[in-house]
Amino acid sequence: MSASAPITQDVHTIPRKLPEGPQNLIGMTREHMRNALIEVGTPEKQAKMRVGQIWQWIYQWGVRDFDAMTNLSKAFRADLGARFVIEVPEVVSKQVSKDGTRKWLVRIAGGHEVEVVYIPEEGRGTLCVSSQVGCTLTCSFCHTGTQKLVRNLTAAEIIGQVMMARDDLEEWPVPGARTGQPRLLSNIVLMGMGEPLYNFENVRDAMKIAMDEEGIQLSRRRITLSTSGVVPEIERTANEIGCQLAVSFHATTDEVRDTLVPINKRWNIETLLEALKVYPRGRNSERITFEYVMLDGVNDSDEDAYRLVELIKGIPAKINLIPFNEWPGAPYKRSSNNRIRRFGDIVNNAGYSSPVRKPRGEDIMAACGQLKSATERARKSRKQIAAEAGLSG
Ligand code: SAH
Ligand code: SF4
Repeated sequence: MSASAPITQDVHTIPRKLPEGPQNLIGMTREHMRNALIEVGTPEKQAKMRVGQIWQWIYQWGVRDFDAMTNLSKAFRADLGARFVIEVPEVVSKQVSKDGTRKWLVRIAGGHEVEVVYIPEEGRGTLCVSSQVGCTLTCSFCHTGTQKLVRNLTAAEIIGQVMMARDDLEEWPVPGARTGQPRLLSNIVLMGMGEPLYNFENVRDAMKIAMDEEGIQLSRRRITLSTSGVVPEIERTANEIGCQLAVSFHATTDEVRDTLVPINKRWNIETLLEALKVYPRGRNSERITFEYVMLDGVNDSDEDAYRLVELIKGIPAKINLIPFNEWPGAPYKRSSNNRIRRFGDIVNNAGYSSPVRKPRGEDIMAACGQLKSATERARKSRKQIAAEAGLSG
């Protein structure tokens, strides 16, 4: 298929601006917040400064209550309270793995639910954020891909996951104090549920908020977006977000990749590699991560390893080998440790770093590709909502 084919998506996003009722300040870009303040009567001359103040309360100090914003007048605080809310997704449940990994199920508008995972490591911690409820793509080894119900998350729901996690980690600094180092939540990976590049604008706006210097202040080098290969959106990722890129590569022939990552039928390996070859990088040292799930007898032979290094020649890359994480009814098995090691050695000898991703939180189904549980619950909630509204039957 041609790379210029239009992207069709049978998913919808809840509009950012709800027609009635208070608007959520979370998820708005600075510009959007400025317009919202002007619309409700803030003088244009003051609007930028007010945005700066509110922004700092919300994103630097984690404050959710207008009354606590003490550098704003009482009258202005009351105005804000009447017209806006500051809302993050609600935590439905939390599980903690024996390795310290945390998984939250959070509820968003419409009764939908998504999962968020926090992975603590030595001197750092990574939050794995979801960009969609479910995923329209159907990668055959991924649990999320078996979920039918799909909707795009809003920017508020995406950055809201980061804020919810900071709440639970108790990591908001005390106003006036210096921010602590190292951070518990120091990195973000867009590797949860969904294909981030099928929800580009919302993901971009949310990550801009995460990177804002007067807010959560995560460097663009600490944010990694993983895509299955939505080629037309790849260049925009560099230009409009500037974060690090990971690509779910997973196979070295179109025949195999077509079955594992079906989006390959639309943008095949050659088309994908072309886009990666010209991917603009902020610095020469920045490399693209090639994710490669190790599936026993499917994509893990020596030949695959040799083909892989041949294919990526000329692309500054690192290969992340991911031992397959099983889920109930999964049609694949994890490659043996010996096989993974041998594959990694071949890639490594060709000059590419090839770390093996350590499965984390497996006991709570929090590892890569295991996220799904929202489906059944979301369906139930829809039924419940219909019943409550007297629409059942
Ligand atoms: N939709 C995006 C990001 C989410 S998945 C993407 O596909 O890139 C994050 C990574 O986990 C991807 O590389 C994905 O292919 C991989 N993955 C999915 N299911 C997996 C499983 N069961 N075991 C190991 N990795 C898996
Ligand atoms: Fe979607 Fe990524 Fe899972 Fe494929 S691997 S189904 S793109 S979430």
